Amino acid sequence: MIVILLGPPGVGKGTQASLAASSRRDQGWQHLSTGALLREEVARGSDLGRQADEFMSRGDLVPDELMVEMVAARVASLGADDVLLLDGFPRTLPQAQALADKAPGGSIGLALYFTAPDSILTDRLLGRGRADDTEEVIAHRLTVYRETTAPLERYYREQGILVEIDADRDIPEIQGSMAEVVGDALARSS
Ligand code: AMP
Repeated sequence: MIVILLGPPGVGKGTQASLAASSRRDQGWQHLSTGALLREEVARGSDLGRQADEFMSRGDLVPDELMVEMVAARVASLGADDVLLLDGFPRTLPQAQALADKAPGGSIGLALYFTAPDSILTDRLLGRGRADDTEEVIAHRLTVYRETTAPLERYYREQGILVEIDADRDIPEIQGSMAEVVGDALARSS
């Protein structure tokens, strides 16, 4: 099953996905962060990394074609019992449509929509110290999120698979909510 993690930059999707996947690896849970994959490509100096770097350092989105290609193989090779926590993808409507085309039938089981007040997002991002976490780039990333990615909330809500997760809580509480919601979706799909 594919579990999409939606929500603004800094809301904690990466932290939560990574913790959830490492504690349930034996149950086939996996974490795929497109941002982390891109940062690896940039560090390796690959072709893709060089192309992506200019967008990432400005806080812009990397073009859809490159992103869809990156994710497609991983999604196609998903085992029937695997749970893929998709963190940072899709971020545009065309990406969401490409994912729906490429994912095995019925495998997109859930979109977890993480929410937290804006003031918390900026504080968390400034505390991370990533190259694209300067005040100016953060402001731009939040704008890009609101204009381009936020509409996906409605897209998945209309499909009846969106569940909101209050991310302004302690990590164990958020992990507990995630486990419960994913567990319910797995029970429904089996
Ligand atoms: P993240 O680690 O998810 O915050 O992503 C860091 C940066 O990588 C973003 O600001 C984008 O420039 C790029 N990126 C990651 N995922 C995507 C995506 N699905 N579509 C376009 N750009 C992405």
